[in-house]
Amino acid sequence: AAVASTNFIRNLIEADLAAGKHVARRWSGQPGPAAQQLAGELDPARIRTRFPPEPNGYLHFGHAKSICLNFGLAQDYGGRCHLRFDDTNPEKEEQEYVDSIIDAVHWLGFSWEGPLVEGSADSECNLYFASNYFDWMVAFAEYLISSGHAYVDSQSAEEMRASRGTLTEAGADSPFRQRSADESMDLFKRMQKGEFPDGAHILRARIDMAAGNINLRDPAIYRIRHASHHNTGDRWCVYPMYTYAHPIEDALENISHSICTLEFADQRPFYDWLLERLAEGGLLQRPLPQQIEFSRLNLTYIVLSKRKLIQLVEERHVSGWDDPRLPTLVGARRRGYPAAGFRLFAERVGVSKSDSLIEYSLLEDCMREVLNDAAERRVAVLDPLKLIIDNYPAGESEECFAPNHPLKPETGKRAMPFGRELWIEREDFMAQPSKGYHRLYPGNMARLRYGYVVKCTGFDRDDSGVVSAVHCEYFADSKSGTPGADGYKVKGNLHWISVAEACRAEVRLYDRLFAVPSPGARRDGDPEGVERDFRADLNPDSMRVIQAWLEPSLKGVQPEECFQFERHGYFVADRLDSQPGAPVFNRTVTLRDSWSV
Ligand code: ATP
Ligand code: MG
Ligand code: MG
Repeated sequence: AAVASTNFIRNLIEADLAAGKHVARRWSGQPGPAAQQLAGELDPARIRTRFPPEPNGYLHFGHAKSICLNFGLAQDYGGRCHLRFDDTNPEKEEQEYVDSIIDAVHWLGFSWEGPLVEGSADSECNLYFASNYFDWMVAFAEYLISSGHAYVDSQSAEEMRASRGTLTEAGADSPFRQRSADESMDLFKRMQKGEFPDGAHILRARIDMAAGNINLRDPAIYRIRHASHHNTGDRWCVYPMYTYAHPIEDALENISHSICTLEFADQRPFYDWLLERLAEGGLLQRPLPQQIEFSRLNLTYIVLSKRKLIQLVEERHVSGWDDPRLPTLVGARRRGYPAAGFRLFAERVGVSKSDSLIEYSLLEDCMREVLNDAAERRVAVLDPLKLIIDNYPAGESEECFAPNHPLKPETGKRAMPFGRELWIEREDFMAQPSKGYHRLYPGNMARLRYGYVVKCTGFDRDDSGVVSAVHCEYFADSKSGTPGADGYKVKGNLHWISVAEACRAEVRLYDRLFAVPSPGARRDGDPEGVERDFRADLNPDSMRVIQAWLEPSLKGVQPEECFQFERHGYFVADRLDSQPGAPVFNRTVTLRDSWSV
């Protein structure tokens, strides 16, 4: 494995480990407000990270970066990474998403279960649901009320918004800010019993309405929501705000390094404030988790916003969440992007504190690099033209041998039948060659890879003038791998498939979903004051479906098998539509980048 390059997060973890900061504890999983303390025993996993998706959609390439980062750090430092569903929002979450996220993390090659120490029988499963902590969250909220750190506000949402202040102007105290702890406690208990409608009251932390950071101006921590939850059903009609729930989830699970994207930097003071108050009260034990921010992944030629992805799916610009052109992990898998390519990409991109736009071609290069090593070579003719070898006996055939992988001789060779009629690519013949063209044209010689050298003798046209067949003669002593082969010096080197044995297949040629690097960004000539719709930048040629000819060995291909089709690129047998005997291939990526200028 590649040695991970260092970055600010690694430096921080190494400093923490050197200082012995994280003698973290395991979590007992027992209910009760002081769960973290109950856990008592020492944790041999020295650092704990987590990947905390909200199960409200399919994971995308940005999540892959976060997964590789969090699970990768835990692996590298002998720690643990938790998969935690951040399912504190009752309205938007579904089991379908939970299942697909579990699949995606496994597919990327990571696991949240296993022995605590290599070789020991003591194991743990680090799969968590934030909604299992609602009891603690409520108990902690009650502690904050009784210790004067929280109060029930009965203003309307508009009143609260209006009194929040601005960046330059302090907020105004709510008329309920001085409510006694007893009265707030009574109201909060009745909120839990369902006595009030949604929005009637809200629980707020009592911090500082004049704080420079607006997030510290008495943020809401619990709200009334008469809604059914996918895990807890109708048990609760109050639900915690994300900014309150998240630090508590981290602390209960003894997370040491809580890594998130930059937009949460402004929330860090509240994250720390909350955990400090709970630690002061003896509800949490130190060391407390530390929030660390890094910049989110942005890629050219694609959108990574969940909202925009939903729009593309719902408006049927793509076939579904697993459309191979979408930057979802289910899409990537159908496209044939290997999981190892994402791990390599995450490593190459690294982590930083400043927002950046990464070239899509960098992702594709990582996929090519992995596939070049992993994929066996095969032959496919995507745009067929018939080549007739007039001096080869009709009805006869012989075998030629092609290496399965030029870099791995141990993978052996396969037989390819050769005969009088072959399919070649239409672009490998020109009736009138352009300058520098070395392939077939009347009078020119070229090699049929792994087979013979041929000389073009002429061609046929159909009634509409289109070239319908090319004629040639072969040289019987030129067969590749025989002593005579060396005597022929030709520049063109073509792939081919015997017409008699070729296998027909549907091939889907996928390309970038958007035609421009920054979909939706203003362009020269756009009318003033009108925002450009990202959908206007969709690439109209992002998918082309063709019927191609494949070499006969591909007839029995299994779904998800991937190959390099020589001279074309990497292709995968579609995991849903490909059937043994009737293959369907998706183009994963071309051999070379055709987009950079
Ligand atoms: P939204 O907030 O729109 O619902 P999200 O993309 O933040 O979506 P979450 O399910 O909350 O989705 O994300 C889980 C984790 O993935 C978070 O820790 C988040 O920081 C990380 N993540 C999400 N998008 C990216 C991205 N583009 N680059 C890196 N990490 C990301
Ligand atoms: Mg989300
Ligand atoms: Mg989110």
